[in-house]
Amino acid sequence: MINLILFGPPGSGKGTQAAKLVEKYGLLHISTGDLFRYEIGNNTPLGLKAKSYIDQGALVPDEVTIGMLRNKVEANPDVQGYIFDGFPRTTPQSEALDKLLAEKSDTVSRLIMLSVPDEEIVKRLLLRGETSGRPDDKNEEVIRNRIDVYKNETTPVYDFYDAKAKSTTVDGIGGIDEIFDRLCAVIDTL
Ligand code: AMP
Repeated sequence: MINLILFGPPGSGKGTQAAKLVEKYGLLHISTGDLFRYEIGNNTPLGLKAKSYIDQGALVPDEVTIGMLRNKVEANPDVQGYIFDGFPRTTPQSEALDKLLAEKSDTVSRLIMLSVPDEEIVKRLLLRGETSGRPDDKNEEVIRNRIDVYKNETTPVYDFYDAKAKSTTVDGIGGIDEIFDRLCAVIDTL
């Protein structure tokens, strides 16, 4: 099994690259952001709970997020591995992921961070907001809040896996194929 955490700030290209990685490596892509948007679109109780946090660019509480992620993994046991996109975003989520994989006698293979500077992120997200239909991409204040949340609450996840010698940084600036090649160069060493 290859279990990847595709890491990086909002707008760093995780979703775009995950789609290409799925094609090449046959892994299951799990994006907690996509899962929440699906729940919101279907007006489920979970979606209603998550919406107010997402609209402000805040994190959905760990217990809600971890429960949703666990359900998705447990519903898809027969895969060659997972690409976690947008998860884990806090240290407790990292601990929960390690525990969940350990229950399957498995582990995180690598965390790969796509590195992109703040001003480039704001530009990309505002541009994406013109077509993504995502309210959290439309408002610059919400975007800046998401970046702050990433720095304050999410970067410890990088350090959590770095302490296990599992974190790698890749330059997230460049063409889509160029960045994809950088990711593959890391994955092919696993
Ligand atoms: P994303 O699509 O990954 O940019 O996520 C969109 C929003 O969903 C985030 O700004 C959070 O409000 C929420 N979200 C997604 N993943 C998580 C997570 N792992 N923990 C908490 N909130 C999350």
